[in-house]
Amino acid sequence: MLTLIRNANLFTPSAVGLQDVLFGTGGVITIAEPGSLHVGSLPCHEVDAKGSALVPGLVDPLVHISGGGGEGGFHTRTPEMQLTEATLAGVTTLVGALGTDAVSRSLEDLLAKARGLANEGLTTYIYTGSYEYPVKTLTGDITRDMMLIDKVIGVGEIAIADHRGSQLSAAELARVASQARVGGMLSGKGGIVFVHVGDGKGGLDILSEVAGTTDIPLSQFYPTHINRSRALLEQGVAFALAGGVIDFTASENSATLNSDEISAIDAVKHALAAGVAVSQITLSSDGNASLPVFDADGRLTGLEVGRVGSLAKAFRDLISEGIAVADALAMTSSNAARILGLDTKGAIAEGKDADLVLLNDQFEPEFVWCLGKAMVANGLPLVRGTFEIV
Ligand code: ZN
Repeated sequence: MLTLIRNANLFTPSAVGLQDVLFGTGGVITIAEPGSLHVGSLPCHEVDAKGSALVPGLVDPLVHISGGGGEGGFHTRTPEMQLTEATLAGVTTLVGALGTDAVSRSLEDLLAKARGLANEGLTTYIYTGSYEYPVKTLTGDITRDMMLIDKVIGVGEIAIADHRGSQLSAAELARVASQARVGGMLSGKGGIVFVHVGDGKGGLDILSEVAGTTDIPLSQFYPTHINRSRALLEQGVAFALAGGVIDFTASENSATLNSDEISAIDAVKHALAAGVAVSQITLSSDGNASLPVFDADGRLTGLEVGRVGSLAKAFRDLISEGIAVADALAMTSSNAARILGLDTKGAIAEGKDADLVLLNDQFEPEFVWCLGKAMVANGLPLVRGTFEIV
């Protein structure tokens, strides 16, 4: 079944104006001037976009799809992500990760969840490993996981500067990075090391040390939570100006923002003002991570859960703050696709996957297609997760 979207205000992510876009489950077939495409007698579903914005599906480089958290005891383990949390937000590609807990959570479970979400329609990948060093893997080491398991595209979240991490040395981190690099080269994948950066001593120093003392380039690392504190943000700006990429966390609540954390939007504005190129910045949701809630006296009173939808909200907030739509899309879709080596993602062009989002005038997803299949129409799910109750 083909779909023809007519009269879309197309962002590829570059703004190209009104276009018609023809696609199927095999990808985007052609893009042409409005009214110039004729599909003849072929069965084709037509949608008149009436000038609404058509954008690539968002790419989320960090979601705890099988649940995360647990740092407050077993009852604080967070639930799994459900399909429509992503599709209703226009997130069509995501990378699943473990976190602190690699005992009651496993890579086998993470891989199964990624496959389940793919069966339901999303494009999913995973990182092998967790916060821990030595890195836990599925097949014995990082390179083997990357070469033998299609969904494994890198290693992460390796924790640095965090009391929950394994306090690994620069030499140990270099070995992790070299295994990911070789695994990426041999399997044709990005092979990045996705790095969880805590609020501990040193911040990003260990990444610069590895790049400065070994043959591993700075670009092998993809550090996240760089908006965790003012000091880390400044370090991240320097890291990006030196050629690195930095990721800001979009899930936030009043408690995290009352701490030293900076909102992802403010962090983007600060980094851009400091001269960081749009191409070096991404946002991730950190979906299904736990978010602590504190009372006025700083006592823990509850936990909330990070949401994949925070990435879509950040996309809208960037635009309302005056960031160009193309730049907001770069930071929430195409940059992550490039960094992760996902060649068919993050762009609308002939031959790319048909992951498309038609937005309303508030820049909210109105229609969403994943791999050419309609998942959301008029802001409501057409496809629900297997266990999502109507
Ligand atoms: Zn993290």
